[in-house]
Amino acid sequence: MLRSFFVHLSENRTLRNFAERSAVGRRVSGRFVAGTQIADAVRSTQAVNAAGMSVSIDNLGENVTNPDEARQSAELYQQILQAIANNKLNANISLKLTHMGLDVDEQLSRDLVSGLVAKAAAMNPPGFVRVDMEGSPYTQRTLDFVHELHRMPGNGNSVGTVIQAYLKRSEKDIENLLAEGIRIRLCKGAYKEPASIAFESKADVDANYIKLMKTLMKSGIYHGMATHDENIIREAEAFARKEKIAPEAFEFQMLYGIRRDLQQSLVRDGWRVRVYIPFGTEWYPYFMRRLGERPANVFFIARNMLRS
Ligand code: FAD
Repeated sequence: MLRSFFVHLSENRTLRNFAERSAVGRRVSGRFVAGTQIADAVRSTQAVNAAGMSVSIDNLGENVTNPDEARQSAELYQQILQAIANNKLNANISLKLTHMGLDVDEQLSRDLVSGLVAKAAAMNPPGFVRVDMEGSPYTQRTLDFVHELHRMPGNGNSVGTVIQAYLKRSEKDIENLLAEGIRIRLCKGAYKEPASIAFESKADVDANYIKLMKTLMKSGIYHGMATHDENIIREAEAFARKEKIAPEAFEFQMLYGIRRDLQQSLVRDGWRVRVYIPFGTEWYPYFMRRLGERPANVFFIARNMLRS
């Protein structure tokens, strides 16, 4: 209920315009967002790297409305890749295709993203572009896009995508991605989807996550298990031990500002952890989805607002 309500709020343009322009909004969003500038993302990445974890940097934004905005978004990602190289950060980038203009001009978005993947592939050490997964109207288009990018000469190890365990189609999608050796981030899924295509109960989503996770862990390809769910994480650890899967063969991924205690305890136990660091001025939809995932977040934010 609460989750649907916040996903609904995340799509409200009036609230979004108000929140992103207000000083209070920017302060409040700092709980989950690293700041508005590349320099903020670099600083946060350095801190996370110093704590023994790698990073994926995400410039927040989705659904641009014209080609110029798409070009600007891609240019910003070019600068992030350059900042990763200049500062020798242990980081890659995550991006959304609608941020690169998928709905405005599909060919343009292809050119922009393949330009970013080519730049990542040419870096030393090679960089990596993770194509995030958005709502179900984009699932097939995103997968087709990633398969195509991955086939382009030289791109092989520098592009991957995301699979959402709440979608019933995900097992088949994983099969197709693995057949081509494509790296996957497995998450539960953050959007509101109809029961015809998505598992509804937490128990069903979790069970599908664990089933898909085991397939990924046994695939011999390097994947990311993106979750803060301790039960699932314990299951992954036990499975790795039982199947003798090395800790270097996969990574856990968590969001900036969420379960830092768990991130650190995994590092201490010798597991690989990557933190997803979002930054930018267009933080509202991302922030609202995070609020809806845990009722306590709403109270946490409200309490901090009352204090300040
Ligand atoms: P849940 O069952 O939601 O939560 C388990 C426990 O984790 C909770 O009890 C709580 O202790 C903690 N927790 C979870 N969320 C929060 C929160 N917001 N604040 C505080 N504690 C929390 N979704 C997509 O649809 N597409 C993507 O491309 C995508 N990329 C992601 C990348 C990363 C690195 C991560 C970690 C998530 C990503 N997600 C993406 C979001 C994901 O789908 C889930 O919505 C989100 O991770 C919450 O699910 P969970 O696995 O943590 O489990």
